[in-house]
Amino acid sequence: ILKSIYAPLRRENRIVGHIFVFQDITKQHRLEAMRKEFVANVSHELRTPLTTIKSYAETLLDGALEEAEISRQFTSVINDEADRMTRLVSDLLELSRLDNKETKWDMKPIDIGTILKNVITKMDVNIKRKGQTIKANIPEELPEVFADNDKVEQVFQNILSNAYKYTPEGGKIYIDVEYAEKMVKVTFKDTGVGIPKEDLPRIFERFYRVDKTRSREMGGTGLGLSIAREIVQAHGGEISISSELGKGTSVIIQIPAISGQLVSTN
Ligand code: ADP
Repeated sequence: ILKSIYAPLRRENRIVGHIFVFQDITKQHRLEAMRKEFVANVSHELRTPLTTIKSYAETLLDGALEEAEISRQFTSVINDEADRMTRLVSDLLELSRLDNKETKWDMKPIDIGTILKNVITKMDVNIKRKGQTIKANIPEELPEVFADNDKVEQVFQNILSNAYKYTPEGGKIYIDVEYAEKMVKVTFKDTGVGIPKEDLPRIFERFYRVDKTRSREMGGTGLGLSIAREIVQAHGGEISISSELGKGTSVIIQIPAISGQLVSTN
């Protein structure tokens, strides 16, 4: 997109030349469009649970309160939707802190293997309940990375919970850790629903989801991958995703190792 300005160049009332100024405003336009889309998305995402909360509360006030079982069900829906709004707002605040460089990083040498084991332990009950199996291959000795423990844990938690959410019952989740080219590389692989090729390039965008209904049912905010990418990049690392529809998805996270020094995880 070009913005042009024209002015005749006059000397003693005679036109002696022409001035054209062309400004490329493509980038400006794109940023503005993205900002508008983001605000529209946030409003929509907040309005959906609010509409549900409002209509259930009204039905209760209109008389459903008299019936114990209905009251219980409706209150539980209201509670879930309030939880959804809380998750959304905390994800948005987190992204805003990352955008504005206001995130407080508690950087120290940490062991990726220990964090992964913690994350797996936390998710284990849910994974088992869904009849899924998880297989982790974490070397006993890995170099440490210089990182914020809680933030890295949050990234792994997001990625593992996606593998869990988008993999049907009985599916498999694999976690592999290796040290290569001065990077600690963690691969999360699942045998889930996969992501269509055409959606892959946009998958890290805020609120971008392959299937909005499925994501909502799973309690997703559509911000998990964007937050993960911001955190990984702030550590000088990289995150990438590959997928095959109907077969499964792999997410690879690489974080620079402090040195070649190996530290026992036991
Ligand atoms: P959400 O809260 O919707 O899970 P994310 O930002 O974590 O948001 O992920 C964005 C979208 O990427 C998801 O809605 C889903 O469509 C897709 N996705 C992410 N991880 C996986 C996966 N392991 N398998 C299939 N689809 C995935």
